[in-house]
Amino acid sequence: MDLLITGTTLVTCDDERRIIEDGAIAIAADRIVAVGKSAELEKAYPDTERMSGRGLAVLPGLINAHTHTILTSLRGTVEDWSGEIIYRYMSPISYTMSEHERGVMAALGCLEAIRSGTTTLVDPFRHVVTYAGAMADTGMRLWLSESCADIDTRKIRFGDYSVDEAFGQAFLDRAQALVEGWHGARNGRVNCQIAAHAPDNCSPAMLAKLLELAGKHGLTRTCHLAQSTGEVASIRERYGLTPAAYLDREGFLSPDLTAAHWTYCTRDDVALLAERGVTLAHCPASSSRRGLHKVPIGWIRDAGARIAIGTDNMSEDMFQAMAIGSIVHRTGRGREAENGTSPTPQEVLDMVTRDAAASVGAGDSIGALAPGMKADLTILDLRSPAMRPIIRLTSNIVHYGHPGLVRSVIVDGEFVMRDGKVLTVDEDALLEEADAVTRAVWDRMIAANPDIAPPPGELRWLNG
Ligand SMILES: [Zn+2]
Repeated sequence: MDLLITGTTLVTCDDERRIIEDGAIAIAADRIVAVGKSAELEKAYPDTERMSGRGLAVLPGLINAHTHTILTSLRGTVEDWSGEIIYRYMSPISYTMSEHERGVMAALGCLEAIRSGTTTLVDPFRHVVTYAGAMADTGMRLWLSESCADIDTRKIRFGDYSVDEAFGQAFLDRAQALVEGWHGARNGRVNCQIAAHAPDNCSPAMLAKLLELAGKHGLTRTCHLAQSTGEVASIRERYGLTPAAYLDREGFLSPDLTAAHWTYCTRDDVALLAERGVTLAHCPASSSRRGLHKVPIGWIRDAGARIAIGTDNMSEDMFQAMAIGSIVHRTGRGREAENGTSPTPQEVLDMVTRDAAASVGAGDSIGALAPGMKADLTILDLRSPAMRPIIRLTSNIVHYGHPGLVRSVIVDGEFVMRDGKVLTVDEDALLEEADAVTRAVWDRMIAANPDIAPPPGELRWLNG
């Protein structure tokens, strides 16, 4: 698509973090070709189709650095239940789903993401090759990965950490198929990573195979790290190490790795991760659902680690992630946190744009409004009480932004949402199907795993 958006406010997130008033941005095909003042670009692009951006703000499309769209199927449940949830619910529910059901729930996540101004999802999970198409069809930019393990995550809740080579090989086969089928697909809009699920479910042999696979295909890597006390205890028992030290012993820590959470990292772990150049995918909203996230964020920020923000589970709302992230970061010990004003709104915005882009090795193509970058744009309506008055726009967006402000979304030079309407998804049909799928999947999951049945009355299905 060729388009010139004029008379708008550009929040560029470029190297100078410019905010350009009465600005314009020119798109040719899938790229941004010019960014500047309206008067100049109107002269330079007299024949390009124009769209008025008056009353709007144009941002680089938001990048969700860590999410699992399938887990929309748990929304409104485990946030309020006590106990371990990763191996008790997240793993069983994904194995309960059919290929079609996974596609439906992943598309629901994509739809929410688009409506929340997100243009890119980084989504490591299981059986991804079976629903990558459903996600790609929504028009989003994707970094997908098969989150590999060779210890059966359905058995861990019973204390069984035995290595199952056939189970691990099936993951590696699916990871290979995903990369071969999807890396670079749809004009480069779909890309792949190599993923280890977590230190406690990957043996040294599995980590070595994943390193080899990433090297063979030249891909960035991701994993979870120190996300639960159970993970920390099991690694301590098996190896006498922390999860970070275990990954380091196996050569897994390097600048092409993004690790989610770091919740139970020690100060030494944080220093090690920063020294190795590992990026933190921080999911402050998701991690705070049962109380403010305990991550040692002050140490992490003091150590200078790159931080990218994601939503993790049961939500794709990056505005909520930014607002809660700002609170979590300003609450953390260290540097300037005591005065409650660090990080700045622009630094938070960087974590969902340019820093998140860098975390997948795409800092030169997405995450900022600059000539040569991919045309991934989020367009917000500033004619909203939550955005007025406009004194410092980035402060408004980070503290008070919400998905209702998102007016249009462009990915790879094409509108996926325009003037409030999502163009790539039949929304009513999808919402209805997602409800039906979720209900059926929960029924089957509990029938097959009676030990995780919630207390009676906790699953109250309401018809929307
Ligand atoms: Zn996760």
